[in-house]
Amino acid sequence: MTTYDFAIVGAGIAGASLAAELSGHGARVLVMEAEDRPGYHSTGRSAAFWEECYGGPEIVPLTLASGPYLKEHGFLSARGALYIAREGEESGLDEFMDTFGETGVTIERLGRAGLERQIEGIRSGWSGAIWEPACADIDVAGLHAHYLSMAKRNGVDLVCRARLGNAERRGGTWTLQTEAGEQFRAKVLINAAGAWADEVAAIAGAKPMGIQPLRRTVVQLRVEPAPPSDLPLVLDMEGSFYFKPESGRLWLSPHDEEPSDPCDAAPEELAVAEAIDRLEKVVDWKIVAVERKWAGLRSFAPDRCPVYGFDGQCEGFAWFAGQGGYGIQTAPAAARLTSQLLLGLERDAMTASLDASLYSPARRG
Ligand SMILES: Cc1cc2nc3c(=O)[nH]c(=O)nc-3n(C[C@H](O)[C@H](O)[C@H](O)COP(=O)(O)OP(=O)(O)OC[C@H]3O[C@@H](n4cnc5c(N)ncnc54)[C@H](O)[C@@H]3O)c2cc1C
Repeated sequence: MTTYDFAIVGAGIAGASLAAELSGHGARVLVMEAEDRPGYHSTGRSAAFWEECYGGPEIVPLTLASGPYLKEHGFLSARGALYIAREGEESGLDEFMDTFGETGVTIERLGRAGLERQIEGIRSGWSGAIWEPACADIDVAGLHAHYLSMAKRNGVDLVCRARLGNAERRGGTWTLQTEAGEQFRAKVLINAAGAWADEVAAIAGAKPMGIQPLRRTVVQLRVEPAPPSDLPLVLDMEGSFYFKPESGRLWLSPHDEEPSDPCDAAPEELAVAEAIDRLEKVVDWKIVAVERKWAGLRSFAPDRCPVYGFDGQCEGFAWFAGQGGYGIQTAPAAARLTSQLLLGLERDAMTASLDASLYSPARRG
């Protein structure tokens, strides 16, 4: 039986990107995926944007470091983002400028006139915004396929329908057993299991990080007039909705964060109704039909920073989890940095400015 250098649990964007990076350095890598196909859970359900400020100042460096790679490979298309505020909430715009002003993002304050230019049909009562011109749509399926095919070219073995059920470490090697009884061997076990990250840690005998899945809902609406294709991503400064155009339709989320067990997440009617109610308070568009709705899990460590690197307490066990609501837009830099941490390599131009201690499992204590 082959003894792999690394066995990665999970073939979402996290597992796929890390497999591609590690195998690019000659490591023998196995990816175990519980589902019939990679990308079935959070990765296949995202709202597909790259937004510089999303997730706060600790996430900005990962997003900015990932931008050039995503651009070079053609995965970004220009969109722009507007964080909008109601009358009386303008201090929130000032705070936003203060929080992000020095982080390297490009942001600009707009008044009501600027808002009207960007969003036709915006209701009165919305008085200003932060304009973020660099925000882009991400081709999520393209990026995921890019990493999977890079991994395949580098000789990575991807096994689907392989849910890790048991892990035992002896003499520096893990014996990994799927729930169906198939066995694999690896020197290092990497947890890229998304919402299941704490469960996989428990299987390996590692202390959990406290990673909590939170459900997020998206609805696809037909509205009149149809949203212009160049409408920016529109987010509420208070964090209660976002929407953006998609192929003549509108994708709308109530920005919900409902705690959930790890599962195949499904949308709740209440979240759909809330999303529509919030949209109707922003624009005077007519809602003609709810065409699609879906939900996915965004999984966060208690401090909402991702978790990258060796566990430190459980030998041969490493984390690549807690990607939260930004696992797609941060994937290139996150995977590059984590491969460097796991292989003991020097940083390169993409990762030189990142502070890995922010994302270290050691902060769990
Ligand atoms: C509605 C929504 C909108 C979002 N919008 C954006 C966005 O615009 N931009 C952005 O950057 N991010 C966005 N995100 C976040 C992004 O989707 C996630 O951060 C990212 O997909 C996480 O990837 P992952 O690989 O960690 O998890 P997943 O894609 O969930 O992959 C984890 C995999 O591990 C597998 N697994 C679990 N347990 C086991 C086991 N025991 N054995 C084997 N396999 C196992 C699962 O089957 C799963 O396939 C959004 C998320 C949601 C839900």
